[in-house]
Formats: sequence, C-alpha cells, structure tokens
Amino acid sequence: APGILWLTRDFRLRDNPALLAAIADGPLLTVFFIDRLTMAQGAASRWRLERALRIFDAALRVRTGGKGIVVLRGEAHEILPALMKRLSVRQLHQSDWPTVEMQALQDRMRAALRPLGAGLILHPGHLLVHPGAVRSGNGGAYRVYSPFARAVRQRGPDRPAADAPPGIEPCTEPLGGLDLSTLDLAPDLHRGRAALERFAAPAGEEAALAGLDDFLDRACAYPRERDRPDLDATSRLSDHLAVGEISPRTIWARAMLRAEISPEHAAGIDKFLSEVLWREFSWHLLIGFPEMPVACWRSEWEGFPWQKDGASLIRWQRAETGVALVDAGLREMWLTGQMHNRVRMVVASWLTKHLLIDWRAGLAHFADCLTDWDPASNAMNWQWVAGCGPDAAPYFRIFNPERQAEQYDPRGDYRRRWLAGFDRAAGPEAAAWIESTPRDWHTGPWRAGPSAMLAEGRKAALAALAHFRAN
Ligand code: FAD
Repeated sequence: APGILWLTRDFRLRDNPALLAAIADGPLLTVFFIDRLTMAQGAASRWRLERALRIFDAALRVRTGGKGIVVLRGEAHEILPALMKRLSVRQLHQSDWPTVEMQALQDRMRAALRPLGAGLILHPGHLLVHPGAVRSGNGGAYRVYSPFARAVRQRGPDRPAADAPPGIEPCTEPLGGLDLSTLDLAPDLHRGRAALERFAAPAGEEAALAGLDDFLDRACAYPRERDRPDLDATSRLSDHLAVGEISPRTIWARAMLRAEISPEHAAGIDKFLSEVLWREFSWHLLIGFPEMPVACWRSEWEGFPWQKDGASLIRWQRAETGVALVDAGLREMWLTGQMHNRVRMVVASWLTKHLLIDWRAGLAHFADCLTDWDPASNAMNWQWVAGCGPDAAPYFRIFNPERQAEQYDPRGDYRRRWLAGFDRAAGPEAAAWIESTPRDWHTGPWRAGPSAMLAEGRKAALAALAHFRAN
C-alpha cells in the first residue's frame, strides 16, 4: 500500500518527518487540498502558497522520476478516507500546524478514518520544541518571553530529521488531480499581481537555504542594523517559514554550526536566533490561548472604547495617513507582501495608539496583505503593540513615526523608495492603483511629517488609555 502525505505547510525535503514516515510506509502519494481553510487565508499568502506548491511539486518530480503533488479541490476528510480504503492504507501522515482551525480539520479526519480502522499521525517540524517540553516553574506554559527563550536554549531545540532520500518510489495509481500549470489560488488578489511578482524574492527550499547561508555570512551586522528598514540587514526568511520551505530546526542547526566556525558572527547569530525564538514563543502562546487572533490576552482590554472610525481605517489601509514612514510601510506591504519589522511596529502603533482603532482591524489587513502571514506571529505582535498582549509594550509606549524615521531611516532612503519613484519599479498593474493616490507621493518629495498632528494624537491616545486604566 502507498504511504500518504497530507501536505499543508511543509513544502520541503529536509527535516520533514511526515514525508519520511510516508516514504517508509510505501510508494509515496503526496496530496494537497484546496479546501475552505486554505481559501479563507489572505489573498497574498495564498499567492505565496501557490508558488511554494509549484516549486515543491517540481522538486518531488526530480526525486520520484516524474510524480508530483496530487492537488484536489475539496475537504480532505470527505475525499481521503474513500481513497485510503480503496488503496488499503491504514495511516495518514501530516506535519502538525497547531491552530484551532487545523485541529478541527484533524478531528474531522480522525472521525472519518475511525470506521476504516485507520488513523492520522501528526509529525513535528513546525516548531523548535514540542509545546509541552518547556514549562515554567509552576508547570504551566510561559507567558513571558525571556524565561521562555532561556528555557528553550537550555533544553536545546530538537534535532532536524534526516533529508529525504535522493530516490523516492512514487505511487503510480492514477488519481487525477488539478493541473498545476493553470492553478490560481488567489483569483481574488485585489491588487497588482504584477507588483507582487516584480518584487517577490525567490521561493522554494533551495532559495530558503541559500538565503539563510547568505544571511549568516553577514550576520555580524545584524544586531547593529536589523532595525534599519533602509538597509538589507535581516534574513528575509519569514516568507519561507510561513509555508514551511525551511524548518526552524534547520535554521537553528545551521546557524549554530556557523557560529562555531565563524566566531566573528557568533553575536549576530545569537541575536538572530533570539528573533527565531520570538516566532517560537508566539506559537506556544497560540497553542495555550487559541483565541489570540480574536481576543485580548488581557481580558480587561475587551472593554477599551476603540474608535469606530471607518474613514481613518480606510485611509490607513490605503497608505494615505499623511505620515511618511507609516504610508511607506503600508505601501511596501501592499506592493511586495512584506514590511520591515520596525515599520510594522510603527504602523501598528499608529493605528492602535494614534487613531485608537481596534488592533483586530489592523491584524485583518496584515493577514490579507502579507505573504509571510503567520497566525501566531501576527496576533502576538499586534497584541504586543496595542498593549493588550502577554509581555506587551506598556500602554504609554507610543511610537513617534518622525523620531523613528530619523533614527532608523536617517537618509530617507526607505521612505523615498516607497513614496516616490516606485511607480517606475512596480510595473503597469500597480500604476493603476498608484494613480488613485495623492500626486506628491509619486512625484516626491514625500510630505513633511505633520508634527502638530503627531503631538495631538499622542496626547489624545495617552489620555484615552490613562482614562481606561483608571476605570
Ligand atoms: P529576521 O529579523 O531575519 O528574523 C528571523 C526570523 O525570526 C523571522 O523570519 C521570523 O520568523 C522571526 N521573527 C523576527 N521578528 C519576529 C517577531 N517580532 N515576532 C515573531 N517572530 C519574529 N512575522 C511573520 O512571520 N508573520 C506575520 O504575520 C507577522 N506579523 C507581524 C505583525 C506585526 C504588527 C509586527 C510588529 C510583526 C509581525 N511579524 C510577523 C514579525 C516580524 O515583523 C517578521 O517576522 C519579520 O519582519 C520578518 O523578516 P525577516 O525574516 O527578515 O526577520
């Protein structure tokens, strides 16, 4: 009987225990479902997922002598059990992606497999350590980053699994499946697809590994330059991690090896790994508090009187706030599916602290626009900036975008890149959208920051937050 891999977000041949287990069961059958959960994701992240799917399909074909991924439209638990019965398959393998929505799918799959005497086997690989493996002093999950990170470092992440073998025997059963060459997972992409394609970094596992190695070569600058959106100082691995083209365990192992070989990069690599641990922390938080994308971690914040200001929200979404760094960041995201971390914080602070708009509206916009959308990181960071999350920024910490710009984009290169002149780079499809934005953005120079508005906004936000806390 064949070994079946139910592919979700593990588009890789290295450190993929689910893939290895399926190969060990028999001739490999790899299936991907275009199901309701996939289609409920934001358009940009679906667009990115499709690229991952195509590249992994090609990589699998090389290993199997021509057999790629069987892509089916529909719900896995309604389709796979009949197929497994017909092929006498008793177990189904999947890499765990621990969100409540995925767990609901897994439960439905288990229920559908039970009458056949078959089971679903979940495999690790998405995280550095099993969520149960690090516990705080009182036996519960950590709620504060620093002791969590210390505990993971002390225990050490799990080792990566072996690479998939160079030759994989494929299952030759004719199963149909969609033609990948005409597949479009993001028909509803409401913006310049051409711009996303124009700016997209290379996708796929090989690109992820090459990107990691390239980053490790320049890691010594990371602590100094990682907050500078005008420089290319970070790893840009988040797109790859979001679709599982590389595992965090592989990143950790390669980075540690590199730190040993090149001591001059050790401090930079250590800082980089502490960021990888923020991702890990966000997932452990999400597992303990699955409502994190929709409910305030500090429940008293549910009573906060957010402004129902639809017009301001739309201006923020359209990058028309008039604040250069904020608009530059939102435009970068709109056009590329990416935004530098420092700017994400400034943009999120502007929405939640200056405009006093509910963080969930910002989270939803990010989820729709980011190619690296990650339910755990997105939710934890939004709650952190808004002040309602675990280990969150204190409520009086309000980013001043002008000061942030002076400090982290001192020559204005980042703002100029996205506010002026980028229409030439973005291509014709993006130009139509740019046409509808204020002229001075694409003719430059960008607007001077409205300082009075900044000061007033800050004062109003502090007053609202202090009032809320006092009551
Ligand atoms: P590097 O600086 O090279 O860091 C390496 C890796 O560490 C990243 O790829 C990422 O996996 C992890 N990491 C770094 N910073 C953080 C962080 N603050 N929180 C969690 N993990 C981190 N990241 C996402 O991957 N998906 C999201 O949906 C997402 N939403 C965010 C929303 C807001 C409001 C904010 C402030 C941050 C968000 N982040 C999100 C975190 C961070 O901005 C990105 O991970 C980072 O910009 C990716 O760039 P990089 O890979 O070059 O990072």
